[in-house]
Amino acid sequence: MSLLIDRIGELVTHDGPPLEDAALVVEDGRVAWTGPARGAPAADDRIDADGAAVVPGFVDSHAHLVFAGDRAAEFAARMGGSPYTGGGIMTTVAATRAAGDDVLRSNTRRLVEEARRQGTTTIEIKSGYGLSVADEVRSLRVAGEFTAETTFLGAHVVPRGADPDEYVALVTGPMLNAVREHAKWIDVFCDRGAFTGEQAHEILTAGVAAGLLPRIHANQLGPGPGVRIAVELNAASADHCTHLSDADVDALAGGDTVATLLPGAEFSTRSPYPDARRLLDAGVTVALATDCNPGSSYTSSMPFCIALAVREMRMTPAEALWAATAGGARALRRDDVGHLRVGARAHLVILDAPSYLHLAYRPGVPLIQRVLP
Ligand SMILES: [Zn+2]
Repeated sequence: MSLLIDRIGELVTHDGPPLEDAALVVEDGRVAWTGPARGAPAADDRIDADGAAVVPGFVDSHAHLVFAGDRAAEFAARMGGSPYTGGGIMTTVAATRAAGDDVLRSNTRRLVEEARRQGTTTIEIKSGYGLSVADEVRSLRVAGEFTAETTFLGAHVVPRGADPDEYVALVTGPMLNAVREHAKWIDVFCDRGAFTGEQAHEILTAGVAAGLLPRIHANQLGPGPGVRIAVELNAASADHCTHLSDADVDALAGGDTVATLLPGAEFSTRSPYPDARRLLDAGVTVALATDCNPGSSYTSSMPFCIALAVREMRMTPAEALWAATAGGARALRRDDVGHLRVGARAHLVILDAPSYLHLAYRPGVPLIQRVLP
């Protein structure tokens, strides 16, 4: 079956500048042809875009969706002046451990569907609210029902009452052994109040030895060794990158690690945003993701993150769209999504707008008209 989408007002493929008055043909789920609408080949089926813009589906490369409960009261307290410390994670751990599989599954499904309605066609999902062998396995099993991009984040925080060294031994030993068949990635929260650089290095190295691919939460709450560890271990992505030294920026610019910025977290914790311009100007590959989680960033909206990146982080609308699509794909080491060149998966969004510029220009407005597939 082939499908022609024609009368596209503006088509963003990431293969050169956007095309006006364009068309796109899908065959067997892949992009088979793109070009001017008047030269489009015939197809079995047709969608008339009626002048709307078409962009690649968003790739959200950082989300924590397997959990129970919410932390709206904590958010309200924070907006009233209490600082964000990350300590509230244990509130969600308790609720998640107490929830049945069906609750975790339906909560995750609700958030995946919510993200999809906002144009997200690829999403990474982390564990990290179980923090026991059984609860981490269970979380990753649920995550695996919704995405191939599953991430083991047993090293989210040291559970309350646990000895840090013993917990690292658990994560790198029995827990890793039990989750390895359910996870593609391994992640660690390397920051104050979470894991040290030494622990993060040990955890990621153990994950790599077990066949998982490394990524890391780094330099969110303060300066630290996370970004340099990511580059040293050739991690696909260092996420947050809010507090960076010149050496961190140089390391990112010289390596293959993507800097994934999560402005929803700074918005929701009322913190200074990462310096996206500094990274882009240094030649670092930048991705944008939601960090969707019940504590520090309870948004599943990539368009919202694009708007924040443009307004608050001085990214151009073109840079922000690229970061939210192709950048996310790079952060997951994927080349089949995040763009609409011939051969890509036909994961795309028809906007309810004539140009992708409207994603930042009209913040908070539901501009997603249709999502394929
Ligand atoms: Zn996160």
